[in-house]
Amino acid sequence: MFETLSDRLDKVFTGLRGKGRLTDADIDATAREIRIALLEADVALPVVRSFIDAVKERARGADVSQALNPAQQVIKIVNEELVGILGGETRRIRLAKQSPTVIMLAGLQGAGKTTLAGKLGRWLKEQGHTPLLVAADLQRPNAVNQLSIVAGQAGVDVYAPEPGNGVGDPVQVARDSIDHARRTMHDVVVVDTAGRLGIDAELMQQAADIRDAVHPDETLFVVDAMIGQDAVTTAQAFQDGVGFSGVVLTKLDGDARGGAALSVRHVTGQPIMFASTGEKLTDFDVFHPERMASRILG
Ligand code: GDP
Repeated sequence: MFETLSDRLDKVFTGLRGKGRLTDADIDATAREIRIALLEADVALPVVRSFIDAVKERARGADVSQALNPAQQVIKIVNEELVGILGGETRRIRLAKQSPTVIMLAGLQGAGKTTLAGKLGRWLKEQGHTPLLVAADLQRPNAVNQLSIVAGQAGVDVYAPEPGNGVGDPVQVARDSIDHARRTMHDVVVVDTAGRLGIDAELMQQAADIRDAVHPDETLFVVDAMIGQDAVTTAQAFQDGVGFSGVVLTKLDGDARGGAALSVRHVTGQPIMFASTGEKLTDFDVFHPERMASRILG
């Protein structure tokens, strides 16, 4: 994860070691190198611009009498700006005052929604909740089955249309699941929705209809980090079509560059809340901006 960016930044910082004081020319040269490092990591241009502006401004104003040497000062600034771009504080799930809390998952097909439903189920159970996973993805023939399998692995309950009842109406299934959760004392409902390979109006409308039927406390936009900058365009389409309150980055294990992770928060204004790092249900954690920044800086 982030290997190239880490290596590039490390070289930038190494070049600053031993310098007594940074001139404006040093700062400009450093900013240029950081800019290239971010662009190579596939970070979206507006994010790169605002990052570089902030680093430059702060490096120029840095108090030279501080205990830190110039290299340390630049590392500190870059670290703080990275934390900022990744969202600053860790953002936790907002629980509804009245059960059940409804979490809706939205994203393209293959983004990792169904796997995430299992991961969230397992995680929520660990936190003392009684989650119910809802199969409102009736588009993909195997989706209901797949959700039942991950629910079984996570040891949590699943709500799905009865087999043999035709294709079923995902909006109705989602709506009914809330009443079912109330009756059966499940305090968090995780609604898995259908995705298409590309963004299309029908998909957006269905997701919006499910949203209106279940009034989610959290709508999580699930995105494959390996798609890089496309994550940003996809996020914008989902923001316009459905709206969301948080982002889940999946497949971070395969993402050597980090562009999606570093762009999506800044571009959408919504926090990254969870990260998936593999196919197993345990390959999952709450997203901590500070830890991620430290990881990038090595
Ligand atoms: P959905 O279409 O959005 O429901 O996506 P799925 O949950 O079916 O996931 C698509 C594929 O990605 C499956 O083969 C998953 O095992 C895999 N997958 C999901 N999350 C991750 C992850 O974090 N890392 C890796 N490497 N694979 C993942």
